[in-house]
Amino acid sequence: MRTAEEYRNDLLKLKANIYIGGRKVKRDDPRLSGGINVISKTFELAEHPDFKELTTRSHLSGKKINRFTHINQSADDLMAKQLMTRKLCRVVGGCIQRCMGCDAINALSIATFAADMENGSDYNKRFLEYLKEFQKRDLTAACAQTDVKGDRSKRPHEQKDPDMYVRVVEKRSDGIIVRGAKNCITMSAIADEIIVIPTRAMTPNDVDYSVAFSIPADTDGVKIISRASSLRAPKDLDMPQAEIGDDEGFIVFDDVFVPWDRVFLCGENMYATLAAHLFALFHRHSYTGCKPATTDVVMGFAALIADYNGVYNKSNIRDKLVDLAAVAELVFAAGIASAINGTKTPAGTFLPNEIYANIGRRHAGLNYYHELELLAEVAGGLPAALPFAEDFLNPETRPYVEKYIKRRADVPPESVYRCLYGISNILCSSFGGVLAVAGVHGGGSPVMEDIAIWRSYDFEEKKKIAKYLTGIKE
Ligand SMILES: Cc1cc2nc3c(=O)[nH]c(=O)nc-3n(C[C@H](O)[C@H](O)[C@H](O)COP(=O)(O)OP(=O)(O)OC[C@H]3O[C@@H](n4cnc5c(N)ncnc54)[C@H](O)[C@@H]3O)c2cc1C
Repeated sequence: MRTAEEYRNDLLKLKANIYIGGRKVKRDDPRLSGGINVISKTFELAEHPDFKELTTRSHLSGKKINRFTHINQSADDLMAKQLMTRKLCRVVGGCIQRCMGCDAINALSIATFAADMENGSDYNKRFLEYLKEFQKRDLTAACAQTDVKGDRSKRPHEQKDPDMYVRVVEKRSDGIIVRGAKNCITMSAIADEIIVIPTRAMTPNDVDYSVAFSIPADTDGVKIISRASSLRAPKDLDMPQAEIGDDEGFIVFDDVFVPWDRVFLCGENMYATLAAHLFALFHRHSYTGCKPATTDVVMGFAALIADYNGVYNKSNIRDKLVDLAAVAELVFAAGIASAINGTKTPAGTFLPNEIYANIGRRHAGLNYYHELELLAEVAGGLPAALPFAEDFLNPETRPYVEKYIKRRADVPPESVYRCLYGISNILCSSFGGVLAVAGVHGGGSPVMEDIAIWRSYDFEEKKKIAKYLTGIKE
């Protein structure tokens, strides 16, 4: 397994193809450091006794690997992934980012196998060779699923500009050339690899768009326009939160060559559709780990500030904390139910139950702004008007801030300041805004979970109950 330092060094070896703030930069740009710090935790904590779930044995080589490179083999694997995700997200106070690549390899392990069973192709063999390398080198991958999509009412082949979904523009003896763009792609500027998966169901008219592949993140023709954000780092106040950041990329594929051994689907619209659904399913199961962790963070700050304010036991506060706990644990419980009710696929990969994963993700997505509202209500208005850390530390203003920020007599004013600073980061920072939109749309907007639930839920069985209870015989 790699160390965090090796991961960072490997990033520095990649060619400059990142664009931030009007300039082309390498991966040592300080604006990317927050996201790199987050991913680094997945390496640093791999040997930590409190994070045993973070490593497992490869089903291919039998060797110890990082779970982010693992193909789930059982319900226990899914639950370990869920717990690992919740624990890691607590450490970084938000998205751990590395799950995308993990969910993508799990989806491809099934979709390539299914395509080969039907067509006699060798996608799964190629994929397994890639996976061996992925596990051995302990790689990180962004999963680029979300196409820019153009006119939302039209399918890929119906778009006026044919490049609105990533597509194959040329097939050669040694590989394919792809063109298009994907947006909202987490960790794309700080990943070793980019795994591309279709974003929606593909019809027989969309075969050029039915493509899945993986490439090193600095492949010629790949341009990553990054929107990196990080928390405001208070000078001289030592806060773990200040090292955290996020990277969201707009990835352009400007006629990019992909060799055949890295092409995992090419033209099979049914299996492209399957890969799109499977990535969404694995990713929504991941959300049943990460979203409870973000609620844990919101809940922690709400409870702490209420405690400092001396109102922790009041009924209006208690109701809100119980509301937050109920959201976190219902979403987590949905993930456990999804794992326990999952199925072993013919490929050997263990698949989460679709209904439970989707209701878990949907519940989380519908509640995130409500959680922020509860925190804002409990915290009062000061997070929006908190003096900057430099003014808290300035000997001229500090005595005033300390005197007037005081709440309960036994709580040091610096603790109150730090707690409000953390809340301000969640409610009032650009990074907090990114996490909020991610809470709604990351992993698929709630309407997409509605579609998945509508597709697979047995409403007919429910009609039968109503008929039985009222004696309707048809
Ligand atoms: C912070 C963040 C991180 C993300 N990370 C990743 C990532 O790592 N990888 C990745 O692939 N994606 C990622 N996503 C993308 C995410 O999956 C998408 O944002 C989500 O699927 C919604 O797609 P969209 O943003 O294109 O919204 P749109 O599709 O434009 O949807 C906007 C609204 O229009 C509605 N709508 C769209 N089409 C139709 C239609 N045909 N009929 C009726 N209504 C319609 C939707 O219901 C929605 O309400 C991330 C998103 C965020 C915010």
